[in-house]
Amino acid sequence: MLVRFTHTLNCGIISPHSIHSENPMTDCLFCKIVQGAISANIIYEDEKIIAFDDIYPKAPQHKLIIPRRHIATLNDLTSEDVGLAGHMIYTAQSLAKQLGIAEDGYRVVMNCNAGGGQLVYHIHLHLLGGRSLVWPPG
Ligand code: AMP
Ligand code: ZN
Repeated sequence: MLVRFTHTLNCGIISPHSIHSENPMTDCLFCKIVQGAISANIIYEDEKIIAFDDIYPKAPQHKLIIPRRHIATLNDLTSEDVGLAGHMIYTAQSLAKQLGIAEDGYRVVMNCNAGGGQLVYHIHLHLLGGRSLVWPPG
């Protein structure tokens, strides 16, 4: 069973302009979700990652998969993080199957820096599905 527990809490609505953190452990929105200081609807967690509902869903199914450890952008991944990145992608696939969107199709996206549309500077894989997704994205 992939999902170890599910709980529902009131999601904190945070301005998307949280951006870069001076001190990630205290300033980063997603670090605060990892720490439980800001609530989220967590659908999966393990020792390395957590996954939760996006607070402003862009599709009927929109989940975010993040590492527990603060990594600001995709550019900050190192060769030591290859296993972590693979784990995030594999978890997206597993969640897509559990959510019933795997057969119809879905999208996983990681935005990088301002030009890539990144608003929260703690890496996160978007899992989007439940509707037809156009290409190219905006
Ligand atoms: P990005 O533009 O790739 O950085 O995506 C950031 C995502 O985080 C957006 O899809 C937001 O809707 C989402 N988001 C912002 N605040 C929260 C929150 N408190 N809980 C869950 N998702 C959030
Ligand atoms: Zn963080």
